Amino acid sequence: MEIDLRALGPGLDAIACQDEVQVTGVVESLSQVEALSPVNVDVVAAREGKQFTVDGNLDFTVVYRCSRCLESFVRAPRVPFAEVFTLDEGAADEAVHYAAGGIADLDPYVAEAVNLELEFFPVCQPSCQGLCPHCGINRNRAACNCSESRVDPRLAILSDLLSDTDSE
Ligand SMILES: [Zn+2]
Ligand SMILES: [Zn+2]
Repeated sequence: MEIDLRALGPGLDAIACQDEVQVTGVVESLSQVEALSPVNVDVVAAREGKQFTVDGNLDFTVVYRCSRCLESFVRAPRVPFAEVFTLDEGAADEAVHYAAGGIADLDPYVAEAVNLELEFFPVCQPSCQGLCPHCGINRNRAACNCSESRVDPRLAILSDLLSDTDSE
């Protein structure tokens, strides 16, 4: 998505822009993301002195795989978007992007904002019970008869060691 900043100047303070941007590589690189919609970019570009601000929101839909129960679920976040551009290459730095030829290319910043928003350990609901570690049943849907008090053998060794230390 590109915005021609040269259109902004005397007589035109701001332009509203709306477009869809496809962020690639997410589904391929993140196993917890099953699908990602195109990102709807809704922004206003404005001139402020020698700089140009591009402010607005990103909306998209993501299908996650729950990190506890492995079921698919959908989230539709709205992410604030705010970037600053300059037409002067010498004035650009980490926070102010150079708009080569007067064109602000939003795609890399949209991709960055979407990647920051994506969750690494998404959970379908805060109360998700996950899968039983013993039989694999989805505990949101059914109960099983596995003992909750079953202790991991490695932890059992550790607790034996700790109780030995206590008694000395
Ligand atoms: Zn879940
Ligand atoms: Zn079980």
